[in-house]
Amino acid sequence: MSAVPVAETFVSVQGEGRLTGTPSWFVRLSGCNLRCAWCDTPYASWNPEKAARTLDDLVGEARRARDERGVRHAVVTGGEPMMFAIIGGRAGLVSRLRDHGLHVTIETAGTIRPPEDAPADLMSISPKLTNSTPTASQASAGGIEPAWAGAGGRHDARRLNIPVLQSLLDDYPAPGRQLKFVVSDGRDLAEIDALLSALRGWTNDDVMLMPEGVTVPTPQRRQELEAICTQRGWRYCPRLHIELFGNVRGT
Ligand code: SF4
Repeated sequence: MSAVPVAETFVSVQGEGRLTGTPSWFVRLSGCNLRCAWCDTPYASWNPEKAARTLDDLVGEARRARDERGVRHAVVTGGEPMMFAIIGGRAGLVSRLRDHGLHVTIETAGTIRPPEDAPADLMSISPKLTNSTPTASQASAGGIEPAWAGAGGRHDARRLNIPVLQSLLDDYPAPGRQLKFVVSDGRDLAEIDALLSALRGWTNDDVMLMPEGVTVPTPQRRQELEAICTQRGWRYCPRLHIELFGNVRGT
């Protein structure tokens, strides 16, 4: 029987991106090939939980969310869901969710793809900037190997994969994609520009800037990012789930 490690499933509103505010059934797969310094789901990355769930079980739960609560959207997130071959292909998780009439979003850092494509309706790609690289002290405090930390460490070496990012842009045409960048400060802009200049086929409408942090940003911080977005023709991306619920699991 096909099974996959799952950290949590829940019904909530989508908090980020084009579908912000949309009631959705979430499945958070557990395991990640990165260790972002500011990861808000360490239980699916730094210290992944390993409860195995079968596809039948997951699809059944999503179907009940549709039938009993009127949920029409599913979000396959992580961790890094693209690590798991089981999400792709005709018999995979994404196809089976779509077979039940659900619109499916995949949330990925865009560094890896499954052997068979996952036919998502929305590919939500969040390339990781230098600000995501953990320091040695963060690695130590988080209980991960020192080899993950710092420039040239395991996280830093893996966090950008231009061929994979390009293939996602090529294979998931607009509006079925978005590029969300987590921004710590103004220094990140040059890095975003450099990355976008290495990619083809994106439009300003794909690009979203999201403030880093697990609390509601100050008005000044939001206005600074919004001004950059307006200037560039990009979108400011709030985190609605943080505003509604705080940094709480299952939301
Ligand atoms: S890619 Fe996502 S889940 Fe993985 S460490 Fe970074 S923020 Fe966490």
